[in-house]
Amino acid sequence: MMQPCAFGSRRIYYNNFAEHLQNAYNPNVVYPGLPNRWTDDQWRGLVDMIAGFGFNVFEFWLVPRLFCRKGLESDFGREFARQMGVVIEHAHRRGVQVEFIAGLATVGERWDTLCPQLPADWAEIQYLWHTWLDRLPGIDIAAFGPGDPGACSRHGCSALTYIDRSLDLASQLADRHPQLGFELNLWGPPVFGWGIITGPPGWAGEFIPEHQASAWRFDKRRADETMTHLLRRLPEFPPQTCVGQNLGFNPDGNPLGDEDARPWIHEIAKTHPVLTWDFSLTEGENNVLPHYRLERLFQRRREERAAAPLAGGICFTMTPLLNQLSLYASAQSFLNPDADPSAVADRFATVVFGPRGHELTARWTLFEVVQDWGCYVKLELSRSEYHRQVTDLADVLRSLTGHEPAALPFHPTVSAYRQELLFFAEFLHDASAPTPDYDTLWQRYWKHVYAIYDHLPEHVDPRPRAATDRLLSRFKTWV
Ligand SMILES: [Zn+2]
Repeated sequence: MMQPCAFGSRRIYYNNFAEHLQNAYNPNVVYPGLPNRWTDDQWRGLVDMIAGFGFNVFEFWLVPRLFCRKGLESDFGREFARQMGVVIEHAHRRGVQVEFIAGLATVGERWDTLCPQLPADWAEIQYLWHTWLDRLPGIDIAAFGPGDPGACSRHGCSALTYIDRSLDLASQLADRHPQLGFELNLWGPPVFGWGIITGPPGWAGEFIPEHQASAWRFDKRRADETMTHLLRRLPEFPPQTCVGQNLGFNPDGNPLGDEDARPWIHEIAKTHPVLTWDFSLTEGENNVLPHYRLERLFQRRREERAAAPLAGGICFTMTPLLNQLSLYASAQSFLNPDADPSAVADRFATVVFGPRGHELTARWTLFEVVQDWGCYVKLELSRSEYHRQVTDLADVLRSLTGHEPAALPFHPTVSAYRQELLFFAEFLHDASAPTPDYDTLWQRYWKHVYAIYDHLPEHVDPRPRAATDRLLSRFKTWV
């Protein structure tokens, strides 16, 4: 078994660049010929930045569009593997390991979930795991994810099936790749969807947005059975296996009542490192704004330290070219969970923007206008007062021109970062004016953030349009 690790020793930068999370601030690795492709040098710049922030693992999702035969055999899949090879090589030079996570059985551009109870499907699942690992030599850690999207409840599949089949795969892969580390992720109530996700009559495992909520249905008896089974089977996993488990069996990882996972974490941590996979702490999904959720982030870290302590975990981003502050603070929250969040923000802004950078600290929360997943910031301001304050924020950002001492490696540049912050401050200024033209604002935001979707057919999970509507709705109802 692995030795228990010190709190926060594995600090994972998790870049989710899935098909439904494309935007101007995220790399487009899946649609060649469309905007937001990154050069190898841009990737190296990103790795330098996250290493400088304090991360020691780079994690990406091997998204379903890649995790399938077509992904393996297409030009974009081969180019992805080549470019990840460049990232792996550079990351290793910087002392950063590279990890991928894939849904155990969710494949293809329409996010279908195969059923491991069916021999042909199980053979395909094994083929994909083995072949992708061969395509990514140098990868350090392979992580199993239950879903979101995807999970199976057909043919008797349950959360136990997920654990057992992950064990089978980990054992096979460890034989062929003795240096490979593993992470078994229990994301969900626990284990998202397995045995509980519903589908219509005749359902063959295809992704259906209307049924996704059923994957989160909590049942204490199921949770106890799942975690008991995990503890029984964990010793059979390869010795270099970690477990991904949040403090609570709910989307926000809140340890409340029967959904409190801490007693189980305490048991697992006696033999295996436990990592947080708390997605809710930094930016939510498809709420593309500069974020500031540092109070809750540091509070959660202290809870995670008290729970086991946890050996580390992910810091999620879908906007690495916009939310550098969140990334910096996330890495620092593992290194120094007792730090005052405002002091961390002060340090970041002062290093990046010079001595007057700290003037931003009390103003960052003005960007948190949408109460989405994981946002506990409450902006209790009248529309006119908000407008006044966000005008002031834009003025501060304009006045910081010229202060660019880059004591931290920064990507892409401090100047570009400031310009993007200013775009949002000016957008929010205009949106909070007494009588804005909402249609024009909608187009302005869409064009700046989500323009890539103008080139794509509607995806099975078309959230970007709804996200743009939601942002503008905030101002339509704000008095
Ligand atoms: Zn099944």
